[in-house]
Amino acid sequence: MTAQLLDGKALADKEMVEVAEEVRAFQAENGFAPGLAVVLVGEDPASKVYVRRIAKSFTEAGMECNQMVLPGSISEAELKAKIRELNEDPKVSGIIVQLPLPKPLTQDMVTSVLSSAKDVDGITPTNAGLYYLGQGGFVPNTPAGGMEILKRHGIPLKGANAVVVGRSNIVGKPMAMLLLAEHATVTICHSRTRDLAAVIRQADIVAAAVGQAKMITGDMIKPGAAVVDFGINPAEKGIVGDVDFESAKEAAGWITPVPGGTGPMTNIMLLRNTLSAARRGLARAK
Ligand code: NDP
Repeated sequence: MTAQLLDGKALADKEMVEVAEEVRAFQAENGFAPGLAVVLVGEDPASKVYVRRIAKSFTEAGMECNQMVLPGSISEAELKAKIRELNEDPKVSGIIVQLPLPKPLTQDMVTSVLSSAKDVDGITPTNAGLYYLGQGGFVPNTPAGGMEILKRHGIPLKGANAVVVGRSNIVGKPMAMLLLAEHATVTICHSRTRDLAAVIRQADIVAAAVGQAKMITGDMIKPGAAVVDFGINPAEKGIVGDVDFESAKEAAGWITPVPGGTGPMTNIMLLRNTLSAARRGLARAK
């Protein structure tokens, strides 16, 4: 059996058209386009590439994306003051602070001041609490994109056995919460899980967020399972996922490729969150 491809790139292209249409309607109604502020601290080349990609997708969707580049030597107090400024700026609908930050700055310093209403990356404790409780809140974009892929391909989720490999706050844990909200029976695995292969073999849905190249192989996949691979691992030629695509596709029913799977959908979910932050901002102002 060869799996059906869960083509995240094709879905992202389709959703880009949908989002652009929603942005046009928003602008026609309200006289302004939603805007994202991206805070970049220091000179991390990978972050710069990522920010350029974000800016391009915002332009394509008809939204604003403004970068604030701060020196790596900035103090905690100065960084917090900049974030507070953006919190108060009515033209800014959403804010992302590019992580990781140069030492000694930390993510906690950002989340302690970042307005949860503008936290379109879903990194604040308030948003984590809200989606944990099933009360809305911005979900981190990568797992949100993975769920969107499953849902838009009609993968059955209710009652399904879902195994999430990885428990980070930005991918694994929120992915588990999203699957639970769709009534899957969820197991979360990590580096101390005993007999990982046996646990994964029970899964109708496998979500891999480990950061280890090709560690999940075809012999671990239950025939017909849906496999969502969040992994981005540098390889000789480009990048590879956490799943060994070649062997896994022989067992799986559906599988995301790397690249072209969850990656492109991450950007789309950031666009959607920013549009939604703009709408919520207007609702609060009324
Ligand atoms: P982290 O390093 O924060 O978390 C990795 C998780 O995998 C941890 O929970 C760790 O367990 C677990 N783990 C590590 N080794 C094993 C093992 N041998 N067996 C079982 N579990 C293991 O990574 P992230 O969640 O930030 O990222 C995961 C992957 O997703 C990376 O490849 C990253 O590049 C990618 N990523 C992709 C994005 C996208 O847009 N598609 C965005 C963000 C990340 P423990 O907690 O016990 O240490």
